[in-house]
Amino acid sequence: MNRLTLGAALALPLLLVVCLLVAIRRDSAETRSQDQVQSQQGAQKETFAARAIGPLTFEQAWVRVVQEKARQSAPPPPQKDEIRIPVLCYHRIDNVRGDFYHTTREMFEWQMKWLAENADVISSALLVDWVRYRQGLSDKAVTLPSRPVVIHFDDNYRSVHEVAWPILKRYKLPWTFFVYRHHHQPISEQNLRAIAASGVDIQAHSMTHPWFHKPARGQSMQDYIREMHWQVGGCKKYLEGISGRPVNQFAWPFGTYSDLSIVLAARYGFVAMYAADGGYVTAGSSLSSLERVLVTKGWTQEYFKNVVSGKARLEKVFKPAWILPDREQARKATEPRKDYL
Ligand SMILES: [Zn+2]
Repeated sequence: MNRLTLGAALALPLLLVVCLLVAIRRDSAETRSQDQVQSQQGAQKETFAARAIGPLTFEQAWVRVVQEKARQSAPPPPQKDEIRIPVLCYHRIDNVRGDFYHTTREMFEWQMKWLAENADVISSALLVDWVRYRQGLSDKAVTLPSRPVVIHFDDNYRSVHEVAWPILKRYKLPWTFFVYRHHHQPISEQNLRAIAASGVDIQAHSMTHPWFHKPARGQSMQDYIREMHWQVGGCKKYLEGISGRPVNQFAWPFGTYSDLSIVLAARYGFVAMYAADGGYVTAGSSLSSLERVLVTKGWTQEYFKNVVSGKARLEKVFKPAWILPDREQARKATEPRKDYL
């Protein structure tokens, strides 16, 4: 097992441990009463793709679960000359020792320069529009540039504002920021508003970064369902207040999700949801768990180039949990709450 393979094998468990520690460290002083945020409707007029789609009905959302189950039992075979789009997922950009999921400033600077010169960085919205078009969900014809790649940042680290954003601006690269609100080292709300006002795509990553695939230890199913509404709907409402634009893409915390969370997010208007365990997005990808690759400090320049050019062996590994076998139970449990709409 070479170093890269070993790094990849260690990546997911380490992410889970890091995020768990983060989740434990956050929040004792935080209260949910802070969630009331003034909406800034009309402040931003910029159009982001897919804004007109809106929440799905229960029946439409349920189809997603059925498709996800089918895909799990029989993944679509790779097509010849298939387009493979890497979605690069970053967390923090600094030189903190011991944090596996950071990228150093120097590495990040090199990677962005390389992308600016050798790839076509596209927005998440264009990616989603392309998948929808290729799957017959939209009539709007979408063509991609020849070397597409997508840049994501997850969580809410200050270094995204302080280090990454200036570099991304310098190279004029589009990117999406998936924010979880109650991070332990959050960017100030003022700075988050500044990022949003510059046109950066702000999307949702939950309120407190919980595991989504099942109730927490000791948590009843009823409390789990109530919490999912807050984590999904509350986060959407909060971030739409920050950006003044539709928030309709969701990154599953720890890359974990369930049939319940898929249906619930779709009914709140999330058009696309992202996993975190590797793989390339293709025309056959699931819109409930689009593939992403976590960029870590262990990457060599050679490996980065291989990933971006679609040559790396990246396989998606996480399986969603199925916890609501009953359709009517699912319908009731995922009815969007008025206070989050
Ligand atoms: Zn995260």
